[in-house]
Amino acid sequence: MIRHHPSAETLLAHAAGQLPAGHALVVAAHAQGCPHCRAELARLEALGGELLDSLTPEGMALDAFTATLARLDEPPHPRRVPAKPRQANLRLPHGISLPSVLAGAEISRWLWVGPGVRYSRVRLPWAPNDNVMLLSVAANRRVIAHSHGGSEFTQVLQGSFSDETGHYGAGDMAEEDNDTNHQPRANDDGCLCLAALEGGLRLPWLTRLTRRFA
Ligand SMILES: [Zn+2]
Repeated sequence: MIRHHPSAETLLAHAAGQLPAGHALVVAAHAQGCPHCRAELARLEALGGELLDSLTPEGMALDAFTATLARLDEPPHPRRVPAKPRQANLRLPHGISLPSVLAGAEISRWLWVGPGVRYSRVRLPWAPNDNVMLLSVAANRRVIAHSHGGSEFTQVLQGSFSDETGHYGAGDMAEEDNDTNHQPRANDDGCLCLAALEGGLRLPWLTRLTRRFA
């Protein structure tokens, strides 16, 4: 059962196309498995359409309105349609496949960052500077306490983790802001997550992940 959803503000920002591409990808991965958030996003998008309708007449040039509508019809990013994520030797837990929203992403092989902790860089060709990764944490391994320079969205794909803010199982999305200082720990079933971090690739915290707990 999904217990942690994106906040109302995040869903609204997603529906309005205001999230950075990496964060939008994580929300999309969540919505794919969450009927509740899919319905809420559909409602917000319909509301946005109604709002546009109500804005149309006098004050707004018809050209501008038509251009806005045309933009709304555009896909959120150019898809050069590789049907599957391009993944190099990425071994996943048995029975687990990557969310289809990762189609078009370039996914690196696993990189070791400490005992029991690996990550794979997910490069989005349509937003190459966005910091997105898959993170795999073995059972009962703890990620060293860290804070963020910006927000961090994490979608649990398999297994579960816990931190000071709660317990997150498969299908849950965790939203941490830059005030959060947390120390996630994978539970008995280990954890595979898709995460987007604001700011540049912050390897230092990744390399510190397990130093203390190895
Ligand atoms: Zn949800």
